[in-house]
Amino acid sequence: MTFRQYYLLIPAMLLSAVVFSQEILTPAEKLNFEQVSSYTDLSAFIRQIDARSDLVSIEKTGSSVKGREINALLFSTSGFGRDAAKIRVLIFAQQHGNEQSGKEGALLLARELIKPENRYLFDRVDFALIPQVNPDGSEVNKRRNANDADLNRNHLILTEPETMALHDFFDRYRFEVTMDVHEYSPYGDNWVKAGFRKNSEVTLGTTTNLNVPEEIRMFSQNKALPFLFNFLGTRHFSCFTYCPGDPPGSGYIRHSTFDINDGRQSFGIQNTLSFIQEGMNGKDDYTDNLKKRAQGQMTGMRGLLEFVYLNKKEINKMISRERQLLMRGKANPVISVQSEHTGNGQVLKLPVYSYKTGKDSVVVSKDYRPMVSSLKDVVKPTGYLIPVKLYEILEWTGRQNFETHEYAPGRADVIQEYTILKTDSIDFEGDIVLNPFVETREYPADQLAGRYVCIPTAQMKGNLISLGLEPASMLGLVTYKRYRHLLKAGEIYPILRIK
Ligand SMILES: [Zn+2]
Repeated sequence: MTFRQYYLLIPAMLLSAVVFSQEILTPAEKLNFEQVSSYTDLSAFIRQIDARSDLVSIEKTGSSVKGREINALLFSTSGFGRDAAKIRVLIFAQQHGNEQSGKEGALLLARELIKPENRYLFDRVDFALIPQVNPDGSEVNKRRNANDADLNRNHLILTEPETMALHDFFDRYRFEVTMDVHEYSPYGDNWVKAGFRKNSEVTLGTTTNLNVPEEIRMFSQNKALPFLFNFLGTRHFSCFTYCPGDPPGSGYIRHSTFDINDGRQSFGIQNTLSFIQEGMNGKDDYTDNLKKRAQGQMTGMRGLLEFVYLNKKEINKMISRERQLLMRGKANPVISVQSEHTGNGQVLKLPVYSYKTGKDSVVVSKDYRPMVSSLKDVVKPTGYLIPVKLYEILEWTGRQNFETHEYAPGRADVIQEYTILKTDSIDFEGDIVLNPFVETREYPADQLAGRYVCIPTAQMKGNLISLGLEPASMLGLVTYKRYRHLLKAGEIYPILRIK
């Protein structure tokens, strides 16, 4: 190298040294992961990210019960949501305030994504990241929000400001891919009693509700998960399918719930490619091993973005086709309202840590139920009729942003009315829920008295609407205390169907 070439290099070396020294640290990194990021520090950090990169803007999605802002970081090179050719991805973390590693992983991810070497992702992807859905719970390291509600059981009834904000945000952009980030406990009582704890640093689950098109469920299971496991594995994180349940002898093992009241299925049921990520939580304290846990969460999220980038065309095609069918009322003619987890002869080899030997091991479960089967189907109607005096259901309709209109009876419309004959109960993932027996009467719409609001099922939330309103739905509104009074033995169910 000539003197002149060397001379020219000096400014470049100085510049890279400056850039390196100015790499932004997340609040937890600054505290050497001995503490988690506070709400105040998180807010300052995301503003720093926004100021540093032309990719990023911040959108306030809403506020918590105590008035803390819930913000989304939007990453886009073309104005978020404006380029229809791009695929919209939403990742949200920390619905449960005591699951801190999701938030910390999300902040690491935000910092990663503004590096020039990751910019290629946004040629194909518009990405929204909500690092913290439940700031009130986070500040006191509690699972629930300040109203003592479990947000991840609130996605159907949407009574909490945090879940309402999340769904309004989703409805605004109609994300094609979502991931809900949590932590799981490997220290379940029955597992510890049996001498083991679960042993995967990151676990992942897909949409399992039977009313989500099989193509989407199979694509998630057979294409996305293997990619993500490989992505995590090659970066030295142990990973596995998210498998709740008990050890052999005390219960069965299944995949995550098919209930639509959580962050994954509530979007999945709208024909979204939807995932749950559950990192391993800390043992004695929520900061236990926090750095590695946050990195694991970040790597899973980063893997999802890579997967979407590489498979953009296929995902776009599949999701837009299936959503079109839903919105035109041409999707599934029946809806499964009661289902159960079933086995298929497959034996599960679950990675565990053995307290007895002090080594990694495997538990073999023969009662493994990776499938979901329908117990009861009902024909999907073209719409539901809500009496205008049933305010609480109309309010729910508003919170869900359903398309509705005041009903004017069509000449050919046939009304279906349920009478609740009696109710008994049915097992739902170990819980007991109501199981009504109904009789259906049909009559022409011109015999209908009173005013009704119509909710057509030909919309993106069509399957969600049926699962919410059918009286025999084990996932429906009537399984919640506040709506249980709608089911009275010997009486007519007030919500009607248009055949
Ligand atoms: Zn959780």
